[in-house]
Amino acid sequence: MMDRNGLSRRQVLAAGAGATLAAAGASRAAAQVRAEGTTLAGDFTFPEPPGQRMRWAVVGLGNYAVGQIIPRFGDMHASRLTAFVSGSPAKQADLGARYGVSRFYSYTNYDEIAADPEIDCVYIALPVGLHAEYTIRALRAGKHVLCEKPMASSAAEAEAMVAAARQANRQLGVAYRVHFEPNNVDVLRRIRAGELGTLRHINADHGFNATFDWPPHIWRLQKALGGGGSMYDIGIYGLNTSLMMLPGDTVDWVSATYSTPQNDPRFAEVEGAVEYRLRMASGISVQGSSSYCYSPYFSRQCYFGSAASAAMQPATTYDANSITMDGGNLPQRTFRAGDPTSQFAAQIDAFSRAARAGVPHLTPGEMGLRDMRLIEAIYRSADAEGDRVMVGLAV
Ligand code: NAD
Repeated sequence: MMDRNGLSRRQVLAAGAGATLAAAGASRAAAQVRAEGTTLAGDFTFPEPPGQRMRWAVVGLGNYAVGQIIPRFGDMHASRLTAFVSGSPAKQADLGARYGVSRFYSYTNYDEIAADPEIDCVYIALPVGLHAEYTIRALRAGKHVLCEKPMASSAAEAEAMVAAARQANRQLGVAYRVHFEPNNVDVLRRIRAGELGTLRHINADHGFNATFDWPPHIWRLQKALGGGGSMYDIGIYGLNTSLMMLPGDTVDWVSATYSTPQNDPRFAEVEGAVEYRLRMASGISVQGSSSYCYSPYFSRQCYFGSAASAAMQPATTYDANSITMDGGNLPQRTFRAGDPTSQFAAQIDAFSRAARAGVPHLTPGEMGLRDMRLIEAIYRSADAEGDRVMVGLAV
């Protein structure tokens, strides 16, 4: 038997007086509302069902792939990991067991990925001197490719990669993760919104201390595998991130000088440090330094405007970037606009969606080629003790 609040005699007896009143209130509320569908509010992206995600093979199971890229597949919404390409069966078996991956290829049978329907996209995480070869082979196998930075050993190699993507009708991207890092994206938004007034100058300093004692640094100090020196590996962050903030501008000319320490055995094949300047058609100048001789690791971007400045230090790390804004009639403030670690999943999911839609990735092969041309111009200027090198490259 029910009382007038819809409670059974057993419920009334089982509950104390307070509970009875609360239950009565809940019951009255329940009588007034009913479950119904609503439209979505906000900017949601839902994880896609596994069967609809783009399937990825990671090529090269080194420090960056194992430490940063592979673990982030768990955070992704549009991508899943299905295959490894490596010269080490033991590493494949170990990582395969950890991440549920069972399709393994070696560098010699790599071309057989062409017949594997469980691979749509390939992530190239090899030393730079191998990027062009393994990217072009994957494109010829009919796969989309996201290649690590710097794109290649030379602009000529990067041109061949872009041409191979066009010929294969597949997407080619360069893994410039900073374009997906929420704090850098926030600075871009503020610059575009005019919060800094007119942007006048950008400063970009990036470096770390390279050593023969750590295997991932060894190939970076060899021309054949590293492609170039600090400017290829770490200076490219300053170059690419600065240009990210200047869409639509043009690099008129560059000038640069080497600041590599003399007689340092680390720099027998590649440059240890460069200071460079890019003069933009807008009148803005980008001034940067790139070094294999900074200790500790250093990454800073500063944006100077007529109304305010924005500084990021660190600017391009995996997990620690923040923004300090000064000016604009507000006290100086340091803040974080988002979690930097989201950049890895955001980058790969964005590539998956672009590849599926058949549209270029936000950081396409052509951007990588532009940067290779700029770095070559920086080297030409430094070889000529700082002479201006005209480039006329659209950002
Ligand atoms: P690493 O030396 O740790 O890894 C390189 C991998 O390539 C290893 O698994 C190695 O076994 C394999 N390899 C195959 N052939 C090789 C050869 N002939 N010589 C040397 N290694 C060979 O290097 P890493 O630091 O992981 O860098 C890999 C790539 O990732 C590079 O392109 C680098 O620029 C890029 N990277 C990007 C970021 C970023 O933040 N986007 C950070 C670090 C590295």
